[in-house]
Amino acid sequence: MKFANIIVDISHEKLDRPFGYIIPDNLEKQVKVGSVVNIPFGRGNRIIQGYVIEITDKPGFDIGRMKEIDSLSENKTKVESELIKLAWWIKENYGSTMNQALKTVIPVKDKVRNLVEKTVVLNISGEQLEDRIVQYKKKNAKAKLRLISELQKNGNLPQRTVKDNINISPSTLKAMQEVGDIIISEDKKYRNPISLKQQEEYNIILNDEQRKVADEIEKTMNFQKKKLPDIHLIHGITGSGKTEVYMELIDFCIKQGKTAIMLIPEIALTYQTVMRFTRRFKEKVSIINSRLSKGERYDQFERAKNGDVSIMIGPRSALFTPFLNLGLIIIDEEHEGAYKSESVPKYHATEVAIKRAKDTGATLVLGSATPSIESYYRAKNGIYKLHKLTKREKGQLPAVHVVDLREELKNDNKSIFSLKLQELIKDRLEKKQQIMLFINRRGYAGFVSCRDCGKAIKCPHCDVTLKLHRNKKLVCHYCGHTEKLPKVCPECGSKYLGSFGIGTQQIEMSVKKMFPTARVLRMDADTTGAKGSHDEILSAFANRDADILVGTQMIVKGHDFPGVTLVGVIAADMSLYASDYGATERTFQLLCQGAGRAGRGDLPGDVVIQTYSPDNYSIETASHQNYEEFYEQEIAYRALMNYPPVANMVSVLLQGRNQKELIVATEKMVEEIRKQKDKCFQNLFVIGPSEPPVSKINDVYRRIIYLKSRDRKKMVFLKNYLEEFINGSQIFKNINIQFDFKA
Ligand code: ADP
Ligand code: ZN
Ligand code: ZN
Repeated sequence: MKFANIIVDISHEKLDRPFGYIIPDNLEKQVKVGSVVNIPFGRGNRIIQGYVIEITDKPGFDIGRMKEIDSLSENKTKVESELIKLAWWIKENYGSTMNQALKTVIPVKDKVRNLVEKTVVLNISGEQLEDRIVQYKKKNAKAKLRLISELQKNGNLPQRTVKDNINISPSTLKAMQEVGDIIISEDKKYRNPISLKQQEEYNIILNDEQRKVADEIEKTMNFQKKKLPDIHLIHGITGSGKTEVYMELIDFCIKQGKTAIMLIPEIALTYQTVMRFTRRFKEKVSIINSRLSKGERYDQFERAKNGDVSIMIGPRSALFTPFLNLGLIIIDEEHEGAYKSESVPKYHATEVAIKRAKDTGATLVLGSATPSIESYYRAKNGIYKLHKLTKREKGQLPAVHVVDLREELKNDNKSIFSLKLQELIKDRLEKKQQIMLFINRRGYAGFVSCRDCGKAIKCPHCDVTLKLHRNKKLVCHYCGHTEKLPKVCPECGSKYLGSFGIGTQQIEMSVKKMFPTARVLRMDADTTGAKGSHDEILSAFANRDADILVGTQMIVKGHDFPGVTLVGVIAADMSLYASDYGATERTFQLLCQGAGRAGRGDLPGDVVIQTYSPDNYSIETASHQNYEEFYEQEIAYRALMNYPPVANMVSVLLQGRNQKELIVATEKMVEEIRKQKDKCFQNLFVIGPSEPPVSKINDVYRRIIYLKSRDRKKMVFLKNYLEEFINGSQIFKNINIQFDFKA
């Protein structure tokens, strides 16, 4: 006998409670995960609809009291079943409970509130408006002028956008309302995070290269389910117009009554980006991002389900938009780490997108200026179809200067800026052009250590150094532990404590010292903690309210500032020292993306890469923006070392509060793995156990084992075997074990 676990209302908290039903013999073949079925429910056995989320051989409880499924439902809502099937697949492939998977895929409904949407409308025009602008200019009322200009450009704007993205304070808004400049209209409907009317007409015509790529992809868009979906990889240099091609494909898709999902990393999902899409597609577009409330998110998914919108733009989770007729999924900046979920289920958006494309007949398009080695490897092996965009429509590629920091030191330059960079900064400040300076990790070296005994001050709960913040506080970037900077060394009592190396704050201070008249903005995780401050800094820089933007990698991702003609990478090799095999690739990507920020406008640009290892191939190839050459070197290295994508790798992370217990458990695990290797898996490589880069977080100790092999099937088999082995042994009782599969 077979049993089905069924949930009755997906959009509700009840999701937490599946109900067990018996599958009658005549339905056994037809009932599957995702099926919509009619079931008798409650005391009165009223027939209602439910969704099958699991099929088992074991009854959940007392069979005698279990009811039978009545029948398969005819008028089934297809999209829910599709998403339930997807959740099942996620659960199977990434190791989570069905509940965790369902919650990832289907948002839970909040308490229903009355929805009022406030929209800011420009209420004056013609001469009256002109007069008002003159008047505000005299008073130097920047905020008011900014709002008027945005309203002229974009038409009506949601009050939220006005507040969060254009940074107009409530008091300014109120003042303008009182004098009649604007009115604030209130609508009762689904919350819509974007609402725009009169934007400039969209009038870009694809160039030959873009047209060719679009044609080739459109040819495959027949929306038929296939065993292997059509997957395209667009490798296009920064500024080559990938986004224009995406929009063309979306247009092609929705003209045939289909819908499209466009994933963009949250950090690149700026107001400007969204405006590009709404200019072309108007009210057909919706977005989700982490700043929307639960209710707003829920509403966007409802609008998608109802067919009110046909394009969804958003980060990773937008992949689960409940669109019927999905025809296209685009993943921009496909190499970004943000596409992998950090919490359980630890899914990768690209893999899930392939699955969703397969189930729906949608076409999948990946795009990047620096594709991940994995994707490029697949493209080279014919699994993905490769397309190239090699030219910039606007602007030109910058000149890149690699500066050897060892030479600077020899020449007695102790500043964090090389002479070349100083010279160019000065030049750009004189010419009133803009500059971006970045390092590739927040406060990477901003730790405090003792000059006598050499000990660095560490977090009491984690195996990392504390970082010095400007307010003389030491902060742990892993657990948030904060303490005052001690007066003397906690180890030896010496009073010579100092902070070494460079973080974004030090760069900012050095700039101010060396170029006192320059207007500087800083953007990193410290300055962007508050809601909306991220956009605030970026739009201030875009409005040319500053000459120099200092920051972490955040500032180089996907932003388009035509005024920037100089990019300085302060210490390019920092990210090379990370201890995983992806470090070189990330360095290359970051340098290329960074260099791509310069010269996007009409003026030529320069990039200065400061480094201690100018000969490293990631730095060398990035300085010529030569992706192919980097790929060839990197893939040869990975093949030599049996790293993905050439081989498959599973990392087994073991965590426990008791260090002794953890060590015993880890040894036991390694022993069992070696046993299996000898028995049936000769070509398996076992590395470790060792301490991961961070060996303790929040008082939990960590050990790691790496497994590598070119035989994927056997790897999956081994992983499943080990999961069972853990369940059967007391040694692992207090140990948390996570498998992370990298193919
Ligand atoms: P990418 O996404 O590859 O970084 P974008 O699509 O952002 O590139 O294009 C860079 C700039 O060039 C944008 O301002 C875009 O509007 C412009 N652009 C791209 N293609 C064309 C075209 N065919 N005609 C005119 N402008 C274009
Ligand atoms: Zn000391
Ligand atoms: Zn800590």
